[in-house]
Amino acid sequence: MMNPSIAVLAGDGIGPEVMAQTLRVLQQVAPQITTKHGLIGGAAYCQYKSHFPTATKQLIDVCDAVLFGSVGGPIEAAEQPQWKNCEVNSILALRNHLKLAINSRPAKFYPALKDISPLKNERLEACDEILILRELLGDVYFGEKRTYTANGYKIAEDTAKYDENQIAQVAHHAFKIAATRKQQVVSVDKANVLDTSKLWRQVFQQVAKQYPEITLTHMLVDNCAMQLILNPAQFDVIATSNLFGDILSDAASALPGSLGMMPSASFSSKGFGLYEPSGGSAPDIAGQNKANPMAQILSLAMMLRHSFDLHTEANAIEKAIENTLDAGFRTQDIMQVGRRAVGTQAFTDEILHHL
Ligand code: NAD
Ligand code: MN
Repeated sequence: MMNPSIAVLAGDGIGPEVMAQTLRVLQQVAPQITTKHGLIGGAAYCQYKSHFPTATKQLIDVCDAVLFGSVGGPIEAAEQPQWKNCEVNSILALRNHLKLAINSRPAKFYPALKDISPLKNERLEACDEILILRELLGDVYFGEKRTYTANGYKIAEDTAKYDENQIAQVAHHAFKIAATRKQQVVSVDKANVLDTSKLWRQVFQQVAKQYPEITLTHMLVDNCAMQLILNPAQFDVIATSNLFGDILSDAASALPGSLGMMPSASFSSKGFGLYEPSGGSAPDIAGQNKANPMAQILSLAMMLRHSFDLHTEANAIEKAIENTLDAGFRTQDIMQVGRRAVGTQAFTDEILHHL
């Protein structure tokens, strides 16, 4: 790719803090990539009275990938204009604008951190990485929503909706990824109750016929939540719908130790990628140099690998992070007894040192 460029949308809360550190890593490994900065979320609202202004849309449309931070304010301030519907108007609108259909969230287990996992060590022995693939443009997030009053009380409705093509796209992606890993896919649904889930299961079974070397199993979402905690080692690739994927991926992120370590990549059917931490803007720790930059930096690694084919650089970043953990460096969310927590910046200094 000639003169590659990326849109950098840092957003709110810890977004700008972890993004600043991530750009230091980018500058070191791939200085040929030009960065173009845009505003999104509450930060954009302050300047444009819009959470996703036209200027930002135009910026994205001339870039080869998007590196996203996080958006949103404190839950207590949710009714303030700057924060009201911020996530819906910014990140959800952005996913829709780019038609990002699939979200890929790896929960990687680090040997150096096995003591901070909420699970007993023996349950983690066989765990390396669980990859959660989440459909991103369907389900209750984009179906019709309304709140109304009838018979004197309030009623709210959210409609879950899927068409078979949306599901097939996730299925193909899941089977192709599984072919490069452990040849197994667990499709998660609630097919005992939901029509959308019955269709989901049918489509997965249909698409699976094209990938005879992959073992497909089905699991109900409530059971999956339990199995993730009881026996995470049974999973490699989990593919699921938007809402279930949102919840299960946060749960899976906690198994290695912290949401602050989980990156994500989202792809359109044309292969355009947006890369962002799986967590939110963490207002509880924002502005204190406390955030773990791993999720954002690992999102950068995913971007280099998937959008720019820079595999050596992506591997080097992942290795440097592992070495930083092995050397005993911790941010406060992954603290261990006998260690000292370092700030966002000092942790990144160490990553750069290992690069
Ligand atoms: P959150 O993910 O921001 O935080 C949950 C917990 O995880 C907090 O205790 C936080 O401190 C911790 N955490 C998250 N990232 C961390 C990191 N990098 N390092 C250390 N600790 C980290 O979720 P929340 O508190 O439910 O929501 C806060 C705001 O974020 C809300 O406004 C919400 O709407 C928004 N949000 C945005 C996105 C997004 O931008 N894609 C996703 C989820 C939530
Ligand atoms: Mn979420």
